[in-house]
Amino acid sequence: MFNEYLMDDKPKEECGVFGVYHHPQAVDLCFYGLHSLQHRGQESAGIVAAFKDGFTFHKGLGLVSDVFTDENLAKVCGDSAIGHVRYNITARKSSVTEAQPLVFKYRLGKIALAHNGELVNAKQIRRYLERQGSIFQTESDTEVIAHLIARSAYDDIESALKEALSVVKGSYALLVLTEDKLIAALDPNGIRPLAMGKLDNGYCFSSESCAFDLIGAEFISEVYPGEMIIADENGLRRMLFSDQVKKTVCSFEYIYFARPDSNLNGVNIHQSRKRLGRQLAVEKPVEADLVLGVPDSSLSAATGYAEALGIPYELGLVKNRYVGRTFIRPKKEFRTKEVEIKLSVINKVVKGKRVVMVDDSIVRGTTCSRIVQLLRDTGAQEVHVRISSPPVIYPCFYGIDTSSREELIVAKKTIEQLRESIDADSLEFLSIEGLIKSICGTKGKHDLCLACFTGEYPTEIYPQNNGVEYNE
Ligand code: SF4
Repeated sequence: MFNEYLMDDKPKEECGVFGVYHHPQAVDLCFYGLHSLQHRGQESAGIVAAFKDGFTFHKGLGLVSDVFTDENLAKVCGDSAIGHVRYNITARKSSVTEAQPLVFKYRLGKIALAHNGELVNAKQIRRYLERQGSIFQTESDTEVIAHLIARSAYDDIESALKEALSVVKGSYALLVLTEDKLIAALDPNGIRPLAMGKLDNGYCFSSESCAFDLIGAEFISEVYPGEMIIADENGLRRMLFSDQVKKTVCSFEYIYFARPDSNLNGVNIHQSRKRLGRQLAVEKPVEADLVLGVPDSSLSAATGYAEALGIPYELGLVKNRYVGRTFIRPKKEFRTKEVEIKLSVINKVVKGKRVVMVDDSIVRGTTCSRIVQLLRDTGAQEVHVRISSPPVIYPCFYGIDTSSREELIVAKKTIEQLRESIDADSLEFLSIEGLIKSICGTKGKHDLCLACFTGEYPTEIYPQNNGVEYNE
């Protein structure tokens, strides 16, 4: 699955988090949980475990399987643990200092934080805290939360965390580990996913439910927007920490980020993608000989599109699953010429055919254009491109690496100009209404963030403080 994130045209999820409270195999479970979340971040991985006298941890750069060995995993001990996989959404060089979970010691003891999301007012808070004398160890927005907890006058972690979360804004699916508690918290908009499960006498938390399947945990529920769940020796306590709750789940989790075998808000990701493809067929049909999907994340939508129109679905594009991580490069100059290494076309399937190529999104446009070219070079008679999401024309400030409108090809060109530039016979996108209907079922009613399509952000976005370009 994670190989699809080698496709640099796609937006990238920042992180995945996994945690286990009170289980004798907490560290091993965390390790396997992170494996299931590898698609959410491949640049670093880490696990922190708690035992009665403190923490042990291991973090490093690379995939989960690169970072952890039998030897270093054996040195991480405890019956509670949190883990993190990270994708660096900035162009800054990856560093193990930035790898999470972040670990701190403050007056009430040790604390570790694993965060998926992005705080939109982190720079503003950080500048304030630095003027007050705080010294930051990382560039991470997550560290802001640790500083706010440490500065709190409260003598218990729950109240201190609640106070810290009343200050920060943006997206956070957060796991906080202390020597005797594991706390999960989700921002009042619930932008990133966070689920809770049960395994034997312990509890686990995961960015996606697919990780529960791997370790044999039973899904209990989503963590709700604005909710804090405390797992400690008293059992489990759930409470709302915010009265500003307004659920707006990232619609890109359904379109692209989440694994097809995950369920989010009771919706299976594969099935929702298939509905996106079906709806796209209703809205933008075309006469063709075959439908193919761009592997892997577009395959569900492609089968939906093909089924709805009664056109054969074919395996026309094959992905090289063994391309190394060296092809993940944050800088644009490395993005070209990589498509040919990662994808090839099955000549006998495509040659002489009118082809519909279904892709889940167009962000920068580079990959799409190269795939159309590959299909043409292989002898496709016609290439019709169908995108199972609306045009992405606004940047994301909630943990996705599209922080500038300049990067977004559809923000700079009309759809006709884009069709010409990618050399497709036709190019069509799903409507926003079609997206809502496919995911939420009821036309018009939804609890989704659609900001990258509409520009209507669910929170204040503090553009200057984020240091990102945002031109209306
Ligand atoms: S702006 Fe787009 S990518 Fe970002 S959280 Fe909203 S829907 Fe998801």
